Amino acid sequence: MVLTPRYADFPETFFEKLDAVEFSQNPILHWNEALAKELGMTDRLFYSSVQVAQAYAGHQFGHFVPQLGDGRARLVGEFQDSQGRLFEVHLKGSGPTKFSRRGDGLATLDAVLRELLVSEDMHALGIPTTRTLAVLGTGKKVIRENEHPGAIQVRIAKSHVRVGTFEYFASRGNTAAIKILADEMLERLFPQLTIEANVYLALFEAVMEKQIQLVCRWLQVGFIHGVMNTDNTLISGETIDYGPCAFMEEYDPLKVFSSIDHQGRYAYARQPQIIKWNLTVLGQCLLPLFSESQDEATQILQRTLANFEDQFDAKWLSGMGRKLGLEEAKSSDAVLIQDFLSLLQKYEMDFTLGFRNLSEQIEHKEKDLKEWSIRWKSRIGENKKTLQQTLNDLNFTNPLFIPRNHLVEAAIKAAAQKNNFAPVERLLAAFKNPFQNSTDFVDLQLPAKPEERVQATFCGT
Ligand code: AMP
Ligand code: MG
Repeated sequence: MVLTPRYADFPETFFEKLDAVEFSQNPILHWNEALAKELGMTDRLFYSSVQVAQAYAGHQFGHFVPQLGDGRARLVGEFQDSQGRLFEVHLKGSGPTKFSRRGDGLATLDAVLRELLVSEDMHALGIPTTRTLAVLGTGKKVIRENEHPGAIQVRIAKSHVRVGTFEYFASRGNTAAIKILADEMLERLFPQLTIEANVYLALFEAVMEKQIQLVCRWLQVGFIHGVMNTDNTLISGETIDYGPCAFMEEYDPLKVFSSIDHQGRYAYARQPQIIKWNLTVLGQCLLPLFSESQDEATQILQRTLANFEDQFDAKWLSGMGRKLGLEEAKSSDAVLIQDFLSLLQKYEMDFTLGFRNLSEQIEHKEKDLKEWSIRWKSRIGENKKTLQQTLNDLNFTNPLFIPRNHLVEAAIKAAAQKNNFAPVERLLAAFKNPFQNSTDFVDLQLPAKPEERVQATFCGT
C-alpha cells in the first residue's frame, strides 16, 4: 500500500507543496513486476495525494548553485517492504515546479529508457541504485535538440536526500534544518547508529563508507557516472541520475563520455577523488552537529577525511583482487592488478571481456600478456580452493552482460522512433542474469564494432 511521504511532514522550507496530479491516465509503457513484488505492492497504485518537490542546492562541476531542487520531479509516496524498510517514489518528468528555472519540467522517453536499462543492470550486478518501477508515456512531445516522445519515470530510492540537500540549508545558515535532515537520515537509513556517542560523526562515517563502497563497485564494472555533482550524490549511497553515464568498453582510465565534461573532471579514474570532494562538502555542512566548538568540529572532520585514502585503497584492492580470483588480496597484489589494467589499456582490450575471459590470456601471443598470465596463475595457486574452482568462481564475479552503449542506443531508438519496445525488453531479460552465459543473448556480449562505437552519451535529458 502506498503511504504518504514522510518528508511532507517536515517544515515548509524543505519543499514546495504541489497540487496532486493523477497519473492514471498515462499508459504504462513498462512495468517492473520484480520491483513491485519487492515493495510488497498488491495493485498498481504508486502515488498518494500528498506530492512535493524537494528543495536542494549543489556544486555543479565544482561551482556552487544555491538553489536547484526538483525542477522536473516530485515525491509522491513511499512503500514499506516486508523487512520494514522505507522506499520513496518519485515521478521524474511530471511537469514544472517552482524549482524548474528555465526548464520545461519534462523528460524524454529516450532518457527514461536509458536510465531503466542501465539501472536494472546495475541492480542485477549488486550495485546500489535507484530503480525504475514504471515508465509512463505522456503522449506529449518534448523538445531537445530534436523532438522526442515524453515520458515519466516512476523512480524508487531509499531516500532522495542528497549532499546538495544539506548544502541548501547550510548555505542559508539553517542549523535546525540540518539537524532535522541528519536525524531523518539516521532513523531511515542507519537506525543502528543512534546509540553512538557522536551520532552525527557516525552518520558521516557511514555515508563515507557507503560512498567508498559504491565508487569501488563502479570502478569494478567500468562504470563512469558522468555527472558526479553534489546534487547527484545520495546520502543513501545509491547511484542516481543516469544522464551521460556509460560503461566503458576499451579500458582507458581517463575515459569520459559526457559531451559537457570538457575538462574530464568526472573521468573513470577521477571518481574516487571526486567522491572525496563531495564528502568534504557534506562534512562541512555537518560541522555544527559534530561539536559546539568550531575548532573541534573542524578537527573531527579533518581526522575522519584523513582515513579516506586508506579505506578506499583497501576496498579497491579487495574488490579488484576478487576480479582476478584472489581469495585474499595483499597490498603487494596492487602491482599485479595495475599491470593487468595497463595491459588492457595497451592492447585496447574490452574491460568487461578482458576480466571475464581471464583464463584465455595465457593463449595470447603477446609476450607481456603471457608473462603476466604466468604471474597471475602462480598467485591464484596460493588460494585454498583448486585452480578450476577459482576459474569457475570468476564467472560469478566478472559479468558478461553490461549495457553496452550501442545496444542501449539501438533499443532506445526502436522504442522512441518506431514504438517497438521488444529490443528494450530483450536487453532487460539479458540483464536479469548478467553473469550467466546464455545462447539466447550471444550477440549482446560483444563489444561494438568500430562503426558502431558510441563515443559520447547524450546530455540533452
Ligand atoms: P540534473 O542535471 O538532472 O541532475 O539536474 C540538475 C538540476 O536541473 C535539477 O535541479 C533539475 O531539477 C533541473 N532540471 C534538469 N532538467 C530539467 C528540466 N527539463 N526542467 C526543469 N528542471 C530541470
Ligand atoms: Mg540530478
